[in-house]
This record gives sequence, C-alpha cells and structure tokens, in this order.
Amino acid sequence: MMDLRDCLEKMEEKGRLAHVTTPVDAAHELSGVAARLEGGRALMFDRVRGYDYPVVTGMWWNRDNVAAIFGKPAGELSGLFAEATASLQKNPVPPILTENAPARATTMNEPDLTKIPVPTHALLDGGPYFSSCVIIAKDPDTGTRNASIHRLMVTGKDRLGLLMDAGRHLRNYYERAEAKGKSLEITINNGAHPAYFVAATTPSSAAPIDVDELAVASYLLGEPARLCRSRTVSVEGIADAQMIMEAEILPQVREPEGPFGEVSGYYAIRENRWVVKIRAVTAQKNPIIHMLHPGREVWNGQGLGIEANLFQTVGKQVKGLKKVYMTHGGSHYHVVLQMDPPYNGMAKNAILATFAAFSDLQMVTVVNSDVNIYDAEDVERAMATRCDPARDIVIVPGAFGHELNPIVQGNISAKMGFDCTYPVPKPPAYTRVSFAEVDLSKYHITP
Ligand code: MN
Repeated sequence: MMDLRDCLEKMEEKGRLAHVTTPVDAAHELSGVAARLEGGRALMFDRVRGYDYPVVTGMWWNRDNVAAIFGKPAGELSGLFAEATASLQKNPVPPILTENAPARATTMNEPDLTKIPVPTHALLDGGPYFSSCVIIAKDPDTGTRNASIHRLMVTGKDRLGLLMDAGRHLRNYYERAEAKGKSLEITINNGAHPAYFVAATTPSSAAPIDVDELAVASYLLGEPARLCRSRTVSVEGIADAQMIMEAEILPQVREPEGPFGEVSGYYAIRENRWVVKIRAVTAQKNPIIHMLHPGREVWNGQGLGIEANLFQTVGKQVKGLKKVYMTHGGSHYHVVLQMDPPYNGMAKNAILATFAAFSDLQMVTVVNSDVNIYDAEDVERAMATRCDPARDIVIVPGAFGHELNPIVQGNISAKMGFDCTYPVPKPPAYTRVSFAEVDLSKYHITP
C-alpha cells in the first residue's frame, strides 16, 4: 500500500526532494519558483498562502528523482516500464476493490475547489489548473475502465474546463455517452502513486480501448492497484490517492477553457471545450496536492513510458533496435532510435513503425550504435555525415498528429524521419576516430 507520501519519503532519503518553506502564492509565484528550479530536486511547497495543504511538483523532472521512487538505477527505468507495459499482454494483474481507502478519510461537505491550492502556472494561463490528475472512466457500452491524464481548469466551486484531445479513449467514451444524451461519470484522482501516472500515460498502441491500463500500475507497485467505490458515481477512485473528485462530464455543454502553457512550450488557445461538474470531494487527512510543472516534467515522465513502449512495439517489427530516447528539445514530438539495421532500408521501416506506434510524434531520427543518442551533438554529427537528404529523409504527408503542436492543423501534418545510419555492410569511411583509453588519475597535470 504505497502512496505519494511514501514516495516523497524515499525521495527525501536520496536527497531528491527539497522544501520551499517561504509562503508562496498559488497564482504564478509557486510556478515561478518551480520554473527557476526546473530539472532538479522535486519541490514541496510547504506553505501556500491562504490554503491548508502543501503542493508538490517536479517529481518527474529528471530520471534520478524517478529512480529514487522506484528503487532502481535511472538507466533501468525504461526497461522496468517496458516490462510493466508488456504485462498487459502476458499476465495483467487487474486492480482490486478495497473498503479501506485512505482517500476516503475526509469529505468536503460542499465541493469547493477554491479551497484547494491549485496553481495558476504560466503568465497567460486562463486560470488555476490541475495538471496531473488521473481521470478514471468506464466505457459506456462495455464497462472497460480507462485511466488517462488531462488538464483541468478551475472555473467555479464545483466546475472545471477539460481538454480531451482527439483519439483519446476518454473522448471516445464521452462521445458515445453524449450521443445517448448522458453525461460521462468520472473520478479525478490527485496525488496518486507515480505507478498510476505511468499506467495512465500508456499509449493506446500498447493499451487498446478494450484493455484496462491500470494493470501497468499493479506491475510497478508489485501488488494489485487499489480502487475504492464512489458515493455519487459508478466509477471507482484510486484508494491511495491524496484526493478524489467524483464528477461528470456534462453532455451538450461547452464553455471557454484556456489559455494554458502546454508541454509544447506554447499556449493552447482559449476555446469552448468540455465541462466537468463535481459531485463530491474526498481526501486523505492532511492531503498533499500534486502538480506537474508543464514542460520538462511531462517530456521526462511521459517520455520514459513512451520509450519503453516504443522499444517493445518497434523492436518486434524491426531487428537490431538497441535504444529509444525521447529528446528533451523535441517536446515529446521527436524520438531518436539507436539501431544497427541488419539490412539496408530497415532504418526506414523502423521510422514508419515508430510513427505508427505513437501518433504524437513529428520526427524520428535513426542512428547506429556508435552514436550516443542522449547527446544532441553526436546525433547532429550523424545527421550531417550519414543522412543523404535526397534518399534518407522520409516524409509522410497529411498524417494524424497531436493538436497541442502548433504545426499540426486540424490534427493533420506531415511527419519526417531521418535515416542517419550508414550502409550495410559498414563502409570503412564511417569508422569513427578513437583514441587510447587512459586513467587520468595516473597523470600529474598542472595547474
Ligand atoms: Mn485506454
């Protein structure tokens, strides 16, 4: 029964959590501090002016933070998440229902979101945003459970604006409920163990619409994910979350939502979008509110899971795949594959398989195993010396993409792959310069 608090204790033990003890405003100031310290230790804001609860952010800022939570070396996280995703096919461990749910310890008499320290993040944001909640819903026809993460703007005491990007299972559920004139019941879970975050960000190529991705959380927790019944909706909440909001997405209602400073590094514009009405709020005693600081935390958090998934799915289709890295400059739209293709042309097959496995991607770059995919300079060198633009750039026009990327219009844009692998067999001209390995501690070097 691991929860967010246990994770924070582990991070503290490993020196991966810092406390901001000076009071901060939830509007802009909290995120201003987070932006300055982005990428380092996670931050617990112990005192948020006017609120009773602390706010934690930055748990996914870097792989050492995440490694502290899962008790694995940072380099093994991708592999661990790949095993968790693979468990969906091999031996999925379904969640269990428990009556003993810490998240049901306290109940708000009247739901009032203005009593929760929800930060207004970026300067032009349209209001306070929940950025990390796991939304659980059930397929209105089959009852299959879905878990996913969506941004939620606070627009009233019991009201939120919601984005459901195209292609997401939640939107598919909602559209079928709405067609019947019904609302879609959901629970909005804040401050769940990161295992639930990994589960909720499993791409649909690994967890199709008829699969409950919460089994991924079971694998990572080493025991079944724990859910609890709700009082006002027929969808369960995460028993060990810090806070559960029971709610419905209203049919035939759209209200302005946005702007929001998104993971792409740009603002999503204000538009009429879906509306959530809160029916009940329960929480642990003294809950900690969890936020994702939009940016690096999302590339890294989602990136780890996506790398793992791509390694699984693309690795089945092309031989010679060694590593997958979601670059930080690419805002989760660029993946670099490291592979030694056994035959000429297979790097291009890998590019197509990668686009098919994750539709958000705009760019895929393939390099050989003598290139360090975590080093943008090394990848650039391969691009400048091993990619013949007339032959090795693959352009797929008019493909389905990610609407938060401004180059994507109406969900459509071209995608581009760079084959930066040398020909098979390797021509001598591609031998990289190398020097003798020496132990520098044996040399006196002054000053
Ligand atoms: Mn799903």
